[in-house]
Amino acid sequence: MAATAALAEAGLAVTLLEWRPYLGGRAYSYEHPTIGEVIDSQHVILGCCTNVIDLITLAGAGDWLRWYDALTFLEPGGRASVLQPSVLPAPLHQTMSFLRAPMLSARDKVGIARGLMEFLRGYPADDTESFATWLKRTGQTERAVRHFWEPVVVGALNDGFERCSVKYAGKVFHESFLRSAEAGRLGIPARPLSEFFAPVAAWAESKGAEVRLKTKVDALRSDGDGGWCVRLGNGEQIRMRAVLLATDQRVAVRLMDGFKAEAAVEREVAAEVVPAPITTVHLWYDREVTALDHAVLLDTRIQWMFQKSKIRRWAAERGTYLELVISASSAELGMGREAILAAALEELPLFFPEVREARLVKSSVLKEARATFSVVPGFDRWRAEQRTESKGLYVAGDWTRTEWPSTMEGAVRSGRLAAGEVVGDRGRFMSAELPASGLMRWLGR
Ligand SMILES: Cc1cc2nc3c(=O)[nH]c(=O)nc-3n(C[C@H](O)[C@H](O)[C@H](O)COP(=O)(O)OP(=O)(O)OC[C@H]3O[C@@H](n4cnc5c(N)ncnc54)[C@H](O)[C@@H]3O)c2cc1C
Repeated sequence: MAATAALAEAGLAVTLLEWRPYLGGRAYSYEHPTIGEVIDSQHVILGCCTNVIDLITLAGAGDWLRWYDALTFLEPGGRASVLQPSVLPAPLHQTMSFLRAPMLSARDKVGIARGLMEFLRGYPADDTESFATWLKRTGQTERAVRHFWEPVVVGALNDGFERCSVKYAGKVFHESFLRSAEAGRLGIPARPLSEFFAPVAAWAESKGAEVRLKTKVDALRSDGDGGWCVRLGNGEQIRMRAVLLATDQRVAVRLMDGFKAEAAVEREVAAEVVPAPITTVHLWYDREVTALDHAVLLDTRIQWMFQKSKIRRWAAERGTYLELVISASSAELGMGREAILAAALEELPLFFPEVREARLVKSSVLKEARATFSVVPGFDRWRAEQRTESKGLYVAGDWTRTEWPSTMEGAVRSGRLAAGEVVGDRGRFMSAELPASGLMRWLGR
């Protein structure tokens, strides 16, 4: 969608072919067939996701992003630690709330501060060290790991420390806690995801792009004349001057099979991609059970609670809609939905005792086996450039080379970079990075 919007605005005739009946790819929502609700797996962004923000804003839907400066960490029993910016300049803006946070002891905080100092100037360009090694090297306490490093890293990178490189973990901490208050604020789509992204497609269409849903690309071949022939699932053939494959890496590899050297290279890329699952539990209650819009839950399987009825500004009569997110949920992949639901319902009252009085009206469990890929140490060398060896053939997707982990920002960047390659000006459609603020203007890179 990002590439389509960029190229259509640049005046090219673009056709977007999407297999599914809705847009958004993995960032999708759908009408649940039996419970009569539109559900999605809650996606969030940070203020530093400048390309997603720009894309949504260009499409006129910027108001559908709800922004939060404070992050509440809840311990079982309900004790809250709130991390939020103060008037102090970056990188000290979170310091006051950090010093007050009861979830960490003074010793934990000293270790965390020492660790964060390593990311003050940025993060390593090399991605070979694992975050597990880094935690040991910087002498983090057990509770600092459990109450600070783990919720942030597992929440943002969706895998355990062994399978996250310091490069990408460092990027998350640099942007969320050090660079500026604006870079670290949390943005939550306030509409179901396919609805949230629909204006992007509408905007591209208004610039002349054609968007075709339920249109599967089955095969691709060079027409021998510098162009491409795309065969669709219904047998139709379309001729194109250039093709940009913005599918996941497996489909891209399959469609490119048979072309020159890059097919072999891409096959290796696909083999190196480690998929990571996310499971979400959706609960509808007859009354409010917490005043919080969202919270990080500590010492539990559930990493995050989103109160979607509040984020979406539902009228009180509609009741309460909570989503519980279990990141890196390999264990849940092998569990039945009933068991996952039962476990979540057992943990929830530890954080929100009002749940005991409320009536659970309906529920649903959504498992996404290939939600993201893991930024395992050394993965960067497998990430493909958006321009391929074959003239007029480009790839995009969060798995390509973007310097971002598996995120919507990574996906949008990849689309915009690929669109830039199509017009021969790689950086043309990219948004500017947020400037560092406060002391970070001198301290940061
Ligand atoms: C549960 C979950 C939670 C997540 N949470 C977050 C989050 O909080 N923040 C965040 O930034 N990211 C999050 N992500 C990751 C984010 O959704 C992805 O990184 C992003 O959507 C990847 O976009 P993409 O365009 O690279 O790939 P995709 O979204 O996978 O898009 C590929 C598209 O290609 C289409 N396609 C495939 N084959 C064909 C074919 N043969 N013909 C035509 N079309 C085809 C697919 O239907 C799909 O629409 C989450 C993902 C999941 C699943």
